[in-house]
Amino acid sequence: MSTLTASGRVAQIPILTLHALDEMSSPISFPPHLFARAMRRWHADGWKTIDLAQVVRLLSRGAKFPAKTFALTFDDGYASVYREGFALFQELGVTATVFVAPNPGGDTNGTTPLPRLSEREMLRWNEIRELRAHGITFGAHTMTHANLTRCSDAQLDDELRTSQQALADALGEPITLFAYPFGKYDARVRGRAAHFFDAAVTDRLGIAGANSDRYALERVESYYLLSPWAADGFTRAWFPHYLAARNLPRALRRRLLPS
Ligand SMILES: [Zn+2]
Repeated sequence: MSTLTASGRVAQIPILTLHALDEMSSPISFPPHLFARAMRRWHADGWKTIDLAQVVRLLSRGAKFPAKTFALTFDDGYASVYREGFALFQELGVTATVFVAPNPGGDTNGTTPLPRLSEREMLRWNEIRELRAHGITFGAHTMTHANLTRCSDAQLDDELRTSQQALADALGEPITLFAYPFGKYDARVRGRAAHFFDAAVTDRLGIAGANSDRYALERVESYYLLSPWAADGFTRAWFPHYLAARNLPRALRRRLLPS
């Protein structure tokens, strides 16, 4: 995808965004059979996942990334990540980061689920702990899935601090990664995220790299991988051009890309 350096390292790394692995035909659904097919194909082509925390460590050192790697993220903590994804993660040795909004009041025991965000079932805490024990990491996604740009200063800090602390208490480790709900952030929100976390991911379409803002990391929404001709997705050399073209005016895009 990017030019290989002599050391076999690359300057950019795709961070994929997924939400639910289901057939609900909503923008946040990715059908499980297509997910399994894509992951198996990339695996067979020699692509590996690396943990988002490792991506952030490399970025902060100005280091490059191992070639043929990508990071996988799941927002919101839907139960389908465990029920449809976990066996595949284990089979292929896949790592991922799941961003969750934990329970107010600290009820993080047993089979208690995360608070619901939609009609979908949410991960239960025993499933979260099992995923964690197998190398899946967790990041904060506020307490109430709020649009942070509309929160007062006090609410903003409370959403960030309380979600970070609740997750840290539940999992017994520091929580260093954050995802902005709805991808919404501005300079004020970014500044407070930088106060609490090592990095934050957005829904800005792009491939993260040395020039990225660590508190506004670009991601590739998996929705873009669903169109038939893009099914090979980010493992192809033209993919960064495809992403760039998504941001071009429509007429120019037509000339550059198949419709
Ligand atoms: Zn979300």
